[in-house]
Amino acid sequence: MDVFSNDKAPTRADDEHEARIEDFTRCCLCGTELAFQHEVDYSRLSVREDAHCPSCRIRLRARDHALH
Ligand SMILES: [Zn+2]
Repeated sequence: MDVFSNDKAPTRADDEHEARIEDFTRCCLCGTELAFQHEVDYSRLSVREDAHCPSCRIRLRARDHALH
């Protein structure tokens, strides 16, 4: 039983998670950090996620997350 593998597993998962977040939070055009907005739609039980670049003033991402 390798003790270190127990330590490494969660760390590596965190790194991959961070990398994905980083990819999500920057404008693909200019690299500016995106501004996120979350809007909860209770009637549809979903969360709408919008991201826009304050520099380019473009909307980059709008996703719906179901709450149920
Ligand atoms: Zn931009």
